[in-house]
Amino acid sequence: MLEIGLVRERAADIQEAADRKGIALSIAELLSVDDRRRALKRETEELRASRNRSSKAVEGLMREGKQEEAEQEKRQAAAQLAMLKQAEEQFREVEQIFNVLMLQVPNLISPDTPQGASDRDNVEVRREGRPPEFAFEPRSHVQLGESLGIVDIPRGVKIGGTRQYVLKNGGLQLHRAVQQLALDLLLNKGYELLDVPVMVKEGTMISTGYFPGNRDQSYGIQGEDKWLAGTSEVPLVSYYGGEIVDLSAPKRLGAVSACFRSEVGSAGRDVQGLYRVHQFAKVEQVVICKADLPEALDHLERMTANSEELLRLLELPYRVVAVCSGDLSQKNYKQYDIETWMPSRESYGETHSASLLLDFQARRSNIRYRDEDGRLRHAYTLNNTMVATPRILIPLLENHQRQDGSIYIPPALRPYMRGIDMLGPDN
Ligand code: AMP
Repeated sequence: MLEIGLVRERAADIQEAADRKGIALSIAELLSVDDRRRALKRETEELRASRNRSSKAVEGLMREGKQEEAEQEKRQAAAQLAMLKQAEEQFREVEQIFNVLMLQVPNLISPDTPQGASDRDNVEVRREGRPPEFAFEPRSHVQLGESLGIVDIPRGVKIGGTRQYVLKNGGLQLHRAVQQLALDLLLNKGYELLDVPVMVKEGTMISTGYFPGNRDQSYGIQGEDKWLAGTSEVPLVSYYGGEIVDLSAPKRLGAVSACFRSEVGSAGRDVQGLYRVHQFAKVEQVVICKADLPEALDHLERMTANSEELLRLLELPYRVVAVCSGDLSQKNYKQYDIETWMPSRESYGETHSASLLLDFQARRSNIRYRDEDGRLRHAYTLNNTMVATPRILIPLLENHQRQDGSIYIPPALRPYMRGIDMLGPDN
């Protein structure tokens, strides 16, 4: 949510942001609705004041025994009340339209965001590690997972339908190991770790900027005001919703949670294997800081570096890309994605997403702090994936496979894998 004052002030920039993000919204229309809303507000206030004056006049005339004049004033007061009710009704209607439009207003786009229409136009910023060269025909994570008996997609589909899977034995251990390694890294960096509800109220999805735009991406609980969050960013940001927070030091929060996504719009895309599923686990980072752009940009770099550190520990080749305007969601000001090398796709695939939202989310969530002058201001928020699994199992299994179908386990994961250095069919 942007402040209407800012929308007015930077109407052209915000219209451009909507156009570049592919959001069908007319800022001119929004501003004209706002003009009408303000006019109706003034009108109701004037009518209310004049009706109050008439009511007082009636009382005075009654006291003075001027019956006939009092009756006349009463009729005028009744007419004013009817007009007031009508104006109030109109105001409510226009305000509703205004609120709906305001929820669609996109965040501004950082000046260094590359221009582009889709993820194909994202720009590589840096690359780490080299894709492996195999001296044998490498297998996909699906083939490896099946032959090791650690991934069972047919039974996942049998239980839960398409885009479902079962992880077993070493598969489950690997899935848990990457999450615990990610949590431990965050803990060592001073993050506060939380276990949070992922079944949240509709208002929580709106205040974090996921609704109304991405409503069809989420699963709702029938008959209840409850939605399954697609990321723990939603409860983590909402943790301080409606509060005045001490931001003398930034709030750095981490959580691991199940994430649920309908993947509407991805029909037919990435249907094989573990890439795009309906339920996965994610360790998420959220930072809430002062409304200070240099500080926030620094957090974005650090949060990205945290994920890169994890990927280096996993010994996986990756690249960081600057997300282009057409791939930037409504709420984001600036975004990096990290893509990890996935041999079966013969390309880098997105595994992490780091975003700076300025005060867009904090305005909707009403997260404020007092600045040095004691003024209340909305905070800035950021989020980034620390690790998402089972997607990360794709590069882990595929890059670290050996000719005999076993999987090399990098040293950083071994403490969480009973010390094993190779994952074979027997473990
Ligand atoms: P996002 O919260 O959409 O930025 O996604 C963060 C990360 O979660 C992605 O980079 C993926 O690693 C993972 N992810 C997102 N959607 C899915 C999905 N449908 N299936 C598996 N992993 C996903």
